[in-house]
Amino acid sequence: MTVFLVGAGPGDPGLLTLRGAEVLRRADVVVYDRLAHPSLVDLAPADAERIYVGKAPGKVELRQEDINALLVERGLAGRTVVRLKGGDPFVFGRGGEEAEALIAAGVAFEVVPGITSAIAGPAYAGIPVTHRGVSTHVTIVTGHEDPAKGATDVDWDALARAGGTLVILMGAGHIADIASRLIDGGRAAGTPVAAVRWATRTDQRTIRATLGTIADLGVESPSVIVVGEVAALDMSWFDSRPLFGRRVVVTRAREQASELRARLEDLGAGVIELPSIALEPVPFEVPSLSGFTWLVFTSANGVIAFFDEGIQPQGLDARALAGVKVAAIGPGTASALAMRGVRADLIPDRFVAESLVEAFPAPGSKGDRVLIARASEARDVLPEGLISKGYDVDVLSVYRTVVAVPDPADVEILRSGGVDCLTFTSSSTVRNFCTLVGKLPEPQPLAICIGPVTADTARSLGIRVDAVATEHTIDGLVDALIAHLSD
Ligand code: SAH
Repeated sequence: MTVFLVGAGPGDPGLLTLRGAEVLRRADVVVYDRLAHPSLVDLAPADAERIYVGKAPGKVELRQEDINALLVERGLAGRTVVRLKGGDPFVFGRGGEEAEALIAAGVAFEVVPGITSAIAGPAYAGIPVTHRGVSTHVTIVTGHEDPAKGATDVDWDALARAGGTLVILMGAGHIADIASRLIDGGRAAGTPVAAVRWATRTDQRTIRATLGTIADLGVESPSVIVVGEVAALDMSWFDSRPLFGRRVVVTRAREQASELRARLEDLGAGVIELPSIALEPVPFEVPSLSGFTWLVFTSANGVIAFFDEGIQPQGLDARALAGVKVAAIGPGTASALAMRGVRADLIPDRFVAESLVEAFPAPGSKGDRVLIARASEARDVLPEGLISKGYDVDVLSVYRTVVAVPDPADVEILRSGGVDCLTFTSSSTVRNFCTLVGKLPEPQPLAICIGPVTADTARSLGIRVDAVATEHTIDGLVDALIAHLSD
């Protein structure tokens, strides 16, 4: 029985520590509040108990004593409890009070420090909290107390005199009074101030002002407020990435979405997954390959299904592929093959069925046989093209795509106009997407397609296509989006 007081970091899920992830993965109970990113809670096992103790609409927030009691009770019950807290648990996180309660009850606990918003917030806004020749020290202070009230625990006059960098947490509501206390205490009205709201998240916003002007601009919670000469530095990187602040929809099946998602997120986009298709295995039997000259794959999923899912009476052994040439429609498919120890003999220049047909050599005199392993509902271009070239073609359905059910909350964001861009990576995703979503909002978000076939399908369903990837890959799709935005 251990209670872990874990710092979740300021928002960007990548800022959780390795130790934090490790204890979350074996938690029986996760106790979290609004500053913890939902994907961190997802790290806990599916059957872990998840208890939200933050503010929720229409509900009263749990009091600190109740949270302490909850941690003690679950801990005494012998559970592995993770108390996930925004930033660092011991920096204005009330983690100290929780630790005291656990000590008093004799419950074992550990502290997993986190990256505090006091440091990460400025860093993500391009502000180093100390800087050679500019600031030699940093003070982190709460702005929660009303400085206009007579005696407070915070000595604002002393802080004003101390100079250096001042980082104020929980100060949004009292910024006007805090600024005037600091000016009264002797800090120049022209001292630079920066307020970073929702730091490290895709909706981060930074306001820059001075002590004299910050009150007029207004600061909203939650913000980290930096006061001092460093606040004039602007080494911005996070919010200057090409897709920062854009919300992009990925329509691929969940199992296929992660690569595109990661590429978009690295460029600063907020990604919504609206999987419009789901992949379903279909039972199939792997035929003896010895009679075939070519084995053709038209998607990475086809490769995965063929090698991993099929009913293989004699067991698919690598040697079964000996003497069989293998074709892949594009680099994604080829790399799925490479992961299974198979190097593709043929990849066309353009990653569409028409190109693959063109790239195929003429069959030998005996009329060579081709086996195409693919989704059940694919187009006939490839088999027909190869037949007309003189091949004897067998098609093996190894998986099928069905309409998926996305999260209704995500569909609502799209319908209410909260999305900047839609990405489509196949005709079946476009078709099913239209079935699911119905009418698109006006003005229509940008629509970017992986290739001409997908684009034609989209247009035939009334979608305005803004860009089509020149190279029909995930990278090509992302490049097309960036090129379109910078036009
Ligand atoms: N333990 C936390 C602080 C909790 S107090 C930490 O170490 O970061 C809550 C205050 O933290 C908020 O009022 C705000 O000032 C600041 N804060 C936390 N996360 C923030 C974020 N992502 N962006 C801006 N401010 C944040």
